[in-house]
Amino acid sequence: MTSTVDAQTATTAGLDLGPARALSCRECGHQTPLAAEFACPECFGPLEVAYDFGAVTRESIEAGPRSIWRYRGLLPVPSDVQDHPNTDPGLTRLVKADRLAAALGVKSLWVKDDTGNPTHSFKDRVVAVALAAARQLGFTVLACPSTGNLANAVAAAAARAGWESVVLIPSSLEKAKILTSAVYDGALIAVDGNYDDVNRLATELAAEHEDWAFVNVNVRPYYAEGSKTLGYEVAEQLGWRLPDQVVVPIASGSQLTKVDKAFRELGELGLVEATPYRVFGAQATGCSPVSAAYKSGHDVVQPVKPDTIARSLAIGAPADGPYVLDAVRRTGGAIEDVTDAEVVEGIRLLARTEGIFAETAGGVTVATAKKLIEAGKIDPDAETVLLITGDGLKTLDAVQDHIGPRATIKPSAAAVNEVLGF
Ligand SMILES: *Cc1c(COP(=O)(O)O)cnc(C)c1O
Ligand SMILES: [Zn+2]
Repeated sequence: MTSTVDAQTATTAGLDLGPARALSCRECGHQTPLAAEFACPECFGPLEVAYDFGAVTRESIEAGPRSIWRYRGLLPVPSDVQDHPNTDPGLTRLVKADRLAAALGVKSLWVKDDTGNPTHSFKDRVVAVALAAARQLGFTVLACPSTGNLANAVAAAAARAGWESVVLIPSSLEKAKILTSAVYDGALIAVDGNYDDVNRLATELAAEHEDWAFVNVNVRPYYAEGSKTLGYEVAEQLGWRLPDQVVVPIASGSQLTKVDKAFRELGELGLVEATPYRVFGAQATGCSPVSAAYKSGHDVVQPVKPDTIARSLAIGAPADGPYVLDAVRRTGGAIEDVTDAEVVEGIRLLARTEGIFAETAGGVTVATAKKLIEAGKIDPDAETVLLITGDGLKTLDAVQDHIGPRATIKPSAAAVNEVLGF
């Protein structure tokens, strides 16, 4: 059963969530008023934000803040969002990657370098939107279960907003990611269990603590929209056009589906020409439930127990898995997965060709792109964008056994010359 929501519902409730008008079920289309809800009251399907976009033009965007808030007219955030304390992420570099293109044998390649965000991953985008919406929805505590980068982003955003934070992480997380979350001095709690255990715990706590906004649980519909800004920025930075091909790493799969949503919205709003594009998904073989479903032609994603160095992508039961399959199949893309050894080689390849040090998720993206190019699935003559979503300084343990100084010498020119073969 579908019901429509009065366009005034949001405003009469005193909520300013910009162009957002309702939450809409991704399964049955049922609409429900904007609130801290994530499951459809009719069918328990996931809810997403539905909009009634006002006048948004290239000029109004270009005149906006130098952050994701330039796209506020396309996000579930208040119109004065830039005036409230937040981390203000976004507008990261889109790098023309000619040396990596040559190494991979493709004509035109770009790297969207999201290591440049405030806590060095794309998670600042989703958390900033979640915080802005949570403030409107009356929350005072920012919380999350995290595979690492989300912990950094939530702890930092809460600190900046003057909010309490409750951040739950698997105790096995990389030391760097634990310290870079703990430094913001919120309540960081390490749980003996994997991410899927931590996620279950968060769902239980979200039901118990009504003033805790778990960014990726009870305010997930708002959080997820933050990923659209990656798609908007790529299009704007290409001079207001869509790329032919984009490669996106998959954890829960939210980012991939929202980059696709962003490209579609830009076309529908006439902000770009609605040219065809293909979305490709990247996973680590040690946690590749979506890739496995894609390859076997299934619509259902079977959960797995993750075992990979790409811990930021190690979600064994990805909530958006089926929607990833839809987006990839509809656009004519593909999904592939790569071994941990290939991930390390991907990190090193990007570093030595472009001077960009990515975390393991970036290694997954580069290595998967290489594999898809070699398999003829990515067209080498069409333009491709790789989403590099996190910084290598947080996953040093993944590369530490593979790289290091060429030699350790006494401070003498002769010794340097000897090492370098002069
Ligand atoms: C969380 C994360 C992703 C993927 O996010 P989903 O939206 O859950 O698929 C990609 N890269 C990095 C570095 C991440 O931390
Ligand atoms: Zn429903």
